[in-house]
Amino acid sequence: MEVAMTLDAPAIWLRDNCSCPECRHPGNGQKLFNIGDLAEDVSVDHVHEDDGVVHIRFGPDGHASVFDSDWLNS
Ligand SMILES: [Zn+2]
Repeated sequence: MEVAMTLDAPAIWLRDNCSCPECRHPGNGQKLFNIGDLAEDVSVDHVHEDDGVVHIRFGPDGHASVFDSDWLNS
């Protein structure tokens, strides 16, 4: 079941903390971009929670991230 939700955290911060293989090296966790490389107008385009996992799609590039909802709410 999908639950629509809103987030308190800034979009740029969420985007910077994305842990997908495009953003973090799967082996060593090293970030593969600089925060300065992100679009200045990065925004949260869509967000929903599904079984304890928060799915976020960012604008304007459509990048998708997945976060643990416990981590987001801590
Ligand atoms: Zn990512």
